Amino acid sequence: MEKIKLNDEIIEQIKDFEWGNLTIKQSAIIEKLILNEELNRRYKDYGLCRECKQPKAGHYYNNYWCQSCNSKHFQEDFKNWTSGNHEVDKFIQSLQIKSNDCSEVLEWIEYDKLEKVEYLAKGGFGITYKAIWKDGYILDWNLENNQWERSKKSSKTYENYPVVLKCLHNSQDITAEFLREIESHIKIESIFVIRCHAYEVCTGLSPYHDIAHEVSLAINICRGLRPKSNYKIPQVILNIIKQCWDADPLKRPKANKLHNLLYNLYYSSNHEINNQIEQADEINEKLTTTSSLYTGIILSYTINSQAIYTSRLLDFKNLPEPKNDDEEEEYSESLMICYA
Ligand SMILES: [Zn+2]
Repeated sequence: MEKIKLNDEIIEQIKDFEWGNLTIKQSAIIEKLILNEELNRRYKDYGLCRECKQPKAGHYYNNYWCQSCNSKHFQEDFKNWTSGNHEVDKFIQSLQIKSNDCSEVLEWIEYDKLEKVEYLAKGGFGITYKAIWKDGYILDWNLENNQWERSKKSSKTYENYPVVLKCLHNSQDITAEFLREIESHIKIESIFVIRCHAYEVCTGLSPYHDIAHEVSLAINICRGLRPKSNYKIPQVILNIIKQCWDADPLKRPKANKLHNLLYNLYYSSNHEINNQIEQADEINEKLTTTSSLYTGIILSYTINSQAIYTSRLLDFKNLPEPKNDDEEEEYSESLMICYA
């Protein structure tokens, strides 16, 4: 499909405008010249690409990325690498040409690009290591030297930035179907996991720590059971967390939407947010002095011996249709007591 473009005449008239700092007269020219709604929006959000001179398409928090140029640079590079597995190559390539931002790029990394590989832990599906990625990840195309600009060169912060390596059992036999499954799993299920992590960061408690992780817990999660705590989480953060925990995976925000929500929250100058955080701090300070879970400021609690935090496949059959946690009274009395 031919992509919509601005013609050379229009480009010529607007190319010297200082995007992001347009004068009233320049804004009026833009409105008059860029009539196509999408190109108009893209110009306002990202400006013109230095390379192709067209309005960029990317993410608003990363307005240097030009999807159409970078997609070409990835394609030019396809002949220079291979994982050795055709399906894996196709999978990585298809994601590379679709990337709207450096955070969406997937790359094949040869082992010699890593150093200081250290064992971290063993999980249900493989072994996890940490390592230093010598060059770091792709940031953007560098027009001056016609190469990918990588994180390691751009900032001292990333000089010894560790990455996590997961060595999967039987990874030689990867199939296209398995990769498609991973892709949808990464996009949808990880958001549910992020909420579990958010809960843990906010409360200090591992989710469902006091009950066995077996079929009855799976059934209750499907029925709407979510981890609870008396620990006060500011409402603005709770609202985000709740979206990630929607029973319908398609209603959970995608990773980039979640990033935007948190980014906006972090940089917001809204006083309401600060008020909520202050109130939560006050309530939690009282909680740490009165709750039996705390010894001073240290949180101590017992994990049920059958609460397992190592990844494993739980293949329970006939689980109920998942729903949200707004009908909590349906759970058995004993489960509610666990969270009281
Ligand atoms: Zn471009």
